[in-house]
Amino acid sequence: DAPAAGKVSTRYDLEKETELRFEVEAGEAAEQVELELIVGMAEVFGSELNRNRKYTFGPGSKIAVFTWQGCSVNLYGKPEVAYVSKDTPMLLYLNTHAALEQMRKQAERDNERGPRVMVVGPTDVGKSTVCRLLLSYAVRVGRRPTLVELDVGQSGVSVPGTVSALCIERPADVEEGFSVQAPLVYHFGSTTPGTNIKLYNKLTSCLAEVFSQRCEVNRKASVGGCIINTCGWVKGSGYQALVHCASAFQVDVVLVLDHERLYNELKRDLPHFVRVVLLPKSGGVVERSKECRRETRDEKIREYFYGFRGVSFYPFSFEVRFSDVRIYKIGAPSIPDSCLPLGMSQDDTQLKLVPVTPGRDLTYHVLSVSSVEDGDEGARKSIVESPVCGFIVVTYVDTQAQVMKVLSPAPRPLPRHTLLIMDIRFMDMK
Ligand code: ATP
Repeated sequence: DAPAAGKVSTRYDLEKETELRFEVEAGEAAEQVELELIVGMAEVFGSELNRNRKYTFGPGSKIAVFTWQGCSVNLYGKPEVAYVSKDTPMLLYLNTHAALEQMRKQAERDNERGPRVMVVGPTDVGKSTVCRLLLSYAVRVGRRPTLVELDVGQSGVSVPGTVSALCIERPADVEEGFSVQAPLVYHFGSTTPGTNIKLYNKLTSCLAEVFSQRCEVNRKASVGGCIINTCGWVKGSGYQALVHCASAFQVDVVLVLDHERLYNELKRDLPHFVRVVLLPKSGGVVERSKECRRETRDEKIREYFYGFRGVSFYPFSFEVRFSDVRIYKIGAPSIPDSCLPLGMSQDDTQLKLVPVTPGRDLTYHVLSVSSVEDGDEGARKSIVESPVCGFIVVTYVDTQAQVMKVLSPAPRPLPRHTLLIMDIRFMDMK
């Protein structure tokens, strides 16, 4: 590693079961902060640090370095905040992992399936962090759990506006998170489940079905179980979506972070054999503003096209003729029940593929490339319920020439011609 030239260095000696929390200033001009473990052992959200290696954290990072036995670390650069806390729920989280591991052992013995765990709670309680921790601990003891990402606003796996599943084969990288190879990704199209709750529930069911099928043929996946990360919307239809998810995945354990009412409601509404556990949130979890969430979403899309730090991708830009593609939006605007054709329900309209006529208003929209080609009516239904193979962004529309220019991770031609439009837009500033 290059020496952290000219950077202020601060040493922290941590006692056992304490954590150093620090935040890196947000904004493009902000200086990165480096972390180095000098003595002892420590971990960042469940992934062990190597000694004498510098880990770099970019603008906006919010990190906790936890130690079970005690350690000394150095920070290079000027974090916005840095303090040591003795008050962490890590022991409770470790006990949760131990209980899940017991369930996996039992599943192994009895030829059953391992625990399916749903992590719920309002926004900013550390749901994603708890998922990451439990997955990393599981994989560190040799398990192969699956991460199911249902947070369409802040997906840890793919671009926003998607739900996905990912087999976890190694602990999360300290700087970059889980290695995202071959995830299974479905198009939702917006950053909140409320825009189309029927579709959201449908996709949850699709993921549950695919996961169950995989468990049938892959014993390790079955024993490893899954950890489901959910959205922070826990009222009304958001709550109903959690109940639906619990039933679709047949979850065994629900971890409720810092929300007593939600805990009581789920205990009341879920079958008695589901273990509902209330866990405290960590005092270190930082509230994120709307602006900050938007930036994180943008960053996720940028990463998809351009890569992340060590790995640079070089996306392609090319023209696509309107006549070569079919663009759809999922879900027609709802109309009063009395106006629906006989035998059709509101559900049908929310899952309907509505053709989009290409025009200037497509500019900057993210489009998912469906893995299914458009064809007859049967194919249309399956487009909604099939995974996507990638994403493109419309950068320019020429209505005269009937073409649009797109940013794409792969060179032309597009692998498929069925495109699904997202509400989400991305302006490429590169
Ligand atoms: P959302 O509602 O957006 O899904 P969430 O509940 O999943 O949020 P996280 O994404 O897990 O919350 O955490 C929010 C932020 O707090 C993240 O940037 C994470 O790195 C940070 N964070 C979590 N735990 C700690 C901690 N103990 N110390 C410092 N920062 C932390």
